[in-house]
Amino acid sequence: MGTKTQKITLNAGFTCPNRDGTVGWGGCTYCNNQTFNPQYCAPTKSVTQQLEEGKAFFARKYPDMKYLAYFQAYTNTYGTVEHCISLYEEALRVDDVVGVVIATRPDCMPEALLDYLTQLNQRTFLVVEYGVESASDDTLRWINRGHTWQQSVEAIERTAARGIRVGAHVILGFPHERPLEQARLIAQLPLTTLKLHQLQIIKGTRMARAYVEHPWPMPTVEEYLQLVRDYVSQLPPRIILERFVSSSPKELLLAPSWGLKNHEFTNLIRKYGL
Ligand code: SF4
Repeated sequence: MGTKTQKITLNAGFTCPNRDGTVGWGGCTYCNNQTFNPQYCAPTKSVTQQLEEGKAFFARKYPDMKYLAYFQAYTNTYGTVEHCISLYEEALRVDDVVGVVIATRPDCMPEALLDYLTQLNQRTFLVVEYGVESASDDTLRWINRGHTWQQSVEAIERTAARGIRVGAHVILGFPHERPLEQARLIAQLPLTTLKLHQLQIIKGTRMARAYVEHPWPMPTVEEYLQLVRDYVSQLPPRIILERFVSSSPKELLLAPSWGLKNHEFTNLIRKYGL
């Protein structure tokens, strides 16, 4: 019988080339990394300590659980190749960690790291997740993303060509987007997994300031559900959908305030025929 496997989110102390001036300053206009770091995960703690604390949290309920080290916060390939390798290898030395998931930007995958990841993929479970966010270069400029759609396509194709599972994140709900056109482009990529996020306006971000000055319409739950259903209908069954929605802490969220938990949303999605 298979064993339950849980991702443990890590903040390994990476930064981001879109914040420190290498690609841009100030980051993507919607970004506030506070929204995706659980309490046990802080860069002052080593990768090992974060994993052990995460394990202790989950093992209370499932003592036989196995774990994936999820390098999530910021850009987890942004450092010297040696430094990145040392962090991934540290994670894999922790008992019951059976694989690694690495989140990064499409413009941040040097060939030398890809060589290492190709080998790593032979000996453990590996997914490389790229923040694609949009297929529209106009949107990518508007959100100060610092890379183009073509860079996303190239990174995904380069990584998949090495036999590595590739995931992508996209955000639905930017103004002036054509989401179904985007879905058709996403469908053509050699992706293993896809995460859909609704646009969330997070307090304290540049996007929040723009939104407060000139609010634009945000979708209702029903409109978003319809959008997700239509979007997913464009995707081939080989792409595994890992999420339909994200939930930032209520106190940080300016809009939309749907007040739904992930599982409630998933139940609603089922009602919508997915
Ligand atoms: S969303 Fe990611 S790429 Fe953009 S500024 Fe934040 S950490 Fe950097």
